[in-house]
Amino acid sequence: MKLVFATNNLNKLKEVQEMLPDTIELLSLKDINCFDEIDETETSLEGNAKLKADYITTNFGFNCFADDTGLEVESLEGKPGVYSARFAGEPANSGKNMQKLLLDLEHKRNRKAQFRTAISLNINDEKFLFQGVCKGEILMKKKGEKGFGYDPIFKPQGFNQSFAEMTSEEKNTISHRGIAVQKLVAFLNNY
Ligand code: IMP
Repeated sequence: MKLVFATNNLNKLKEVQEMLPDTIELLSLKDINCFDEIDETETSLEGNAKLKADYITTNFGFNCFADDTGLEVESLEGKPGVYSARFAGEPANSGKNMQKLLLDLEHKRNRKAQFRTAISLNINDEKFLFQGVCKGEILMKKKGEKGFGYDPIFKPQGFNQSFAEMTSEEKNTISHRGIAVQKLVAFLNNY
């Protein structure tokens, strides 16, 4: 089955591709010649995921899923949340985002945080929603070189390494997106 993952992020495409069975042919936006800028204008992760998946299904006619992820920090009332990519302003910059978050947490004792991913799937005129959560904490400073986004300052619960010190395989098994994708894959396997 051909299935579009509505993303241009090659890191994410690789992560998800590694988890899907061979029976599912994953296509990127580029693969379907979609070069449109799909603005994430909703105020929730679920809303943005649905908006992106619906855009592709409506305009390109493909079965499609889209995800949206946010880092929700407890002592910042769930921020940066849906605004994680541009927390430090435009243009999106991971280094600046991490710098701002470390500064915002400088005098906070509670450094608990979670990554949350929402996946919206459109398949044969039906719509489904999946969620994955990874709990952890924000480190005092960056650790590790791998991954992307906030990986160097996020330590998942029960581990001594940051996400940026893990291989993509290790991260996939416990990450927010990994868990949401596992739910999507389980669903697709039984579809
Ligand atoms: P997106 O919805 O997956 O594009 O995620 C929004 C923002 O959250 C990204 O720009 C990153 O800053 C951050 N983010 C998402 N997933 C991860 C992850 O697995 N590790 C670190 N940061 C992430």
